[in-house]
Amino acid sequence: MSTTETVLVIAVWVAVAVFVALRLGPILRRHQPAAVPPYANFTPPPAGARYLACDTTICGHLAIVHAPQPDGTWKCTRCGHIKGGQ
Ligand SMILES: [Zn+2]
Repeated sequence: MSTTETVLVIAVWVAVAVFVALRLGPILRRHQPAAVPPYANFTPPPAGARYLACDTTICGHLAIVHAPQPDGTWKCTRCGHIKGGQ
């Protein structure tokens, strides 16, 4: 095989490789994971608030932010349940 034929064969292979890469690019990009959603905004709890176990089934007895009330009780910021002073 002469040098000219070798260069021609290499050029054809390069052209085929570029063509295949251009055809496969969009197909491969389709399988990438979706973009990560932005983080949630942080809302600071009210001043003097405490995390207390809420005694209702609405909150599932989980530790929820309770805001202090003037009478010394605590009010759940999720369901509004009033809890005795602790
Ligand atoms: Zn609650």
